[in-house]
Amino acid sequence: MATFRYKLLLLLCCRVAFAAAPNPLHSRRLNAETLRHFSALLRMDTSNPPGNETEAARYLAGVLQREGIPVKLLGLDPARANLVARIKGDGSARPIAILGHTDVVPAQRSKWSVDPFGAVRKNGFIYGRGAVDDKEIVTAGLMVMLLLQRGHVKLHRDVILVAEAGEEGATGVGIDFLVSRHWDDIAAEYALAEGGSAVAQGGNVRYVAITTAEKVPRGVRLIARGLSGHASRPSPDNAVLRLAAAVARLGEWRTPMRLNDTTRAYFERLAGISPPPDADRYRHVGDAARGPEIDRYFERYEPAHYAMLHTTLVPTMLKAGFAFNVIPSQAEAYIDIRALPDEDMPRFYDEMRALIADPNVEIEPRKPTRPATPPSRTDTAMFRALEHAQRRMFPKAITLPAMLTGATDMAQLRAKGVQAYGFGPIVEAGDPGAAHADDERLAEASLYKLVEFLWYTVLEAAGTAAQR
Ligand SMILES: [Zn+2]
Repeated sequence: MATFRYKLLLLLCCRVAFAAAPNPLHSRRLNAETLRHFSALLRMDTSNPPGNETEAARYLAGVLQREGIPVKLLGLDPARANLVARIKGDGSARPIAILGHTDVVPAQRSKWSVDPFGAVRKNGFIYGRGAVDDKEIVTAGLMVMLLLQRGHVKLHRDVILVAEAGEEGATGVGIDFLVSRHWDDIAAEYALAEGGSAVAQGGNVRYVAITTAEKVPRGVRLIARGLSGHASRPSPDNAVLRLAAAVARLGEWRTPMRLNDTTRAYFERLAGISPPPDADRYRHVGDAARGPEIDRYFERYEPAHYAMLHTTLVPTMLKAGFAFNVIPSQAEAYIDIRALPDEDMPRFYDEMRALIADPNVEIEPRKPTRPATPPSRTDTAMFRALEHAQRRMFPKAITLPAMLTGATDMAQLRAKGVQAYGFGPIVEAGDPGAAHADDERLAEASLYKLVEFLWYTVLEAAGTAAQR
């Protein structure tokens, strides 16, 4: 009871605090401005490669500087600038960094129903490459900076906006460059970036996924060697056969299932909003007795959940042979590995070797692109601020700490000790215009809600008590 009263008190305090907050958000003029910046960014073709992120960085710099917010353009390559802007707090707590990337994956124009760089508005959506990855986050970050500055909001920590280049596979010019050469410019206690989303069904937000962890991208090249020769004279010492057998063995391997703090909390909370049969599975996923059966169910029907529980291996490319009638001496396969955050990779590679059981098949690990890091904590002021923003905006939903099966620039930040959280816009479950898809799109209303969500979060985590 005591704890309940305490919680109620907290809740009331939050309410009062929120009620006192300046709310410049529900204005048409602000939405029009948000849409203008978002559309301008979508119209810039920052397909990576080659990127050309400097155009976007310059645009953002212009907007911020006009409002008196100091900016820096930092680049390893003049065409691929990163922007860092900072609004100062009183220094009593360490900064918050809001990160969004300005590069996008390429678009296959012929597969789109609209110009992927036209920022076309249609049926309540805005279409464009980068609409949900990641120009919506860049725009929301920009708008929150403008609102903080215009409202003369007193902050107890600095708020930093980082618009990065090269997130889509060229981190050398983006996050790696910033972390290794300009750490002082972006160092923060907390970071907010892409990766999460508010998942809606029939227009109602069911849950707000905040990513606190991500899987670790690793990969190997399998190199099988054998005897070359004339294809009219078969030999068991054939590189193609060795490779095929090795790939088949890996394909049959069921790596162990494992939960961590994030996924445990994820399944527990998800159970609370799921229909009985699903809830039952989510509640018992960690059971010694029922776990294996639930795991098999996930493998078949809920592959995203299966991927959250296992280090996975997926063959993606094969390379062998050069002539129809020649047995090649070498054949190669590429295996994309997505490791659980705590995976012991040298041991994992040893297990792969033992499984393949062929000394003529070599495993060559690729150079890691992202560091392995532990999950960010859910007992921090920032996580609470995210939960409060959810409760305020989507009171019927819940906040789900989640682990991304993909990877983001937050890996590099977590490796430096930053508590990093992925958030994102409202998306309708199953919407075809997802990240990296043809006809990528974002609902207009969702863009404005994203600004609001980030605003409440940042205001609570960085504003002084009087401001909140
Ligand atoms: Zn992205």
